[in-house]
Amino acid sequence: MTTTATIAQALARAQAAGLARIDAQMLLLHVLGRATSDRAWLLTHDGDAMAGDALARWQALCARRAAGEPVAYLTGRKEFYGLALQVDARVLDPRPDTETLVEWALELIAPCPAPRVADLGTGSGAIALALQHQRPDARVLAVDASAGALAVARANAQRLKLGVQCVQGDWLAGLAGPFDAIVSNPPYIPAQDPHLAALTHEPLSALASGADGLQDIRTIVAQAPALLAPGGWLLLEHGWDQADAVQALLRAAGFSQVQSRMDLAGIARCSGGSMPVGLSPTVK
Ligand code: GLN
Repeated sequence: MTTTATIAQALARAQAAGLARIDAQMLLLHVLGRATSDRAWLLTHDGDAMAGDALARWQALCARRAAGEPVAYLTGRKEFYGLALQVDARVLDPRPDTETLVEWALELIAPCPAPRVADLGTGSGAIALALQHQRPDARVLAVDASAGALAVARANAQRLKLGVQCVQGDWLAGLAGPFDAIVSNPPYIPAQDPHLAALTHEPLSALASGADGLQDIRTIVAQAPALLAPGGWLLLEHGWDQADAVQALLRAAGFSQVQSRMDLAGIARCSGGSMPVGLSPTVK
């Protein structure tokens, strides 16, 4: 292990060892106590010598990153939809893909005063908090089966001063509607998918869902109609190849206007539908 290096040398060595430059930079800013927006500072100070203890701490973090730990767990922070969330291994590392779901939900609730929204499997609270931040008038319920996840979501809500209500629960079971929108990024990876091997640091319960990955989505689609207001929407994130299957489940459950939205990579990543007015069991 090297005991002296300039910032430029340290970054070059981490990259040579196989780390993504952005990951090495994020971990370095964390160790130096600087904001993640300070990457330009690293460039203008690339000739600065790093203090030995900072260098050693950074090398240890780089080794953990190389072994697969998400940068967000190593720094304890993740930006999501403009919010600085605190995250740890009790929750899924929020992905930028999920911002697609937030954007879609915001469009749908835009005409609705004081919309009632439920975020199922909230994890860090990312979706619920982003919606509450953009729509202070909304009444947002954040639900998770995991007590550990809810503790993370509650702490984020408190720190960000966002009035999201956090409740422990099994998807929609026992909740009182009606909701104008129900949104979820549930687990959706097939239990035997080799892709899971690269995600062992994240909670399996937030990732895998039965043999075809659709077990939890089936439950949510079955529960949602009874709790949606007439014209209310259910929006679900899902895997890259699941849009057709999720659309079929939504249609079979009586949803109308069933459609999908693409993520930043152009993959159909979310599907949703609305409860036809007049067919919903709840009257607004
Ligand atoms: N999109 C994540 C992945 O495939 C999984 C998130 C999820 O299961 N909800 O890495």
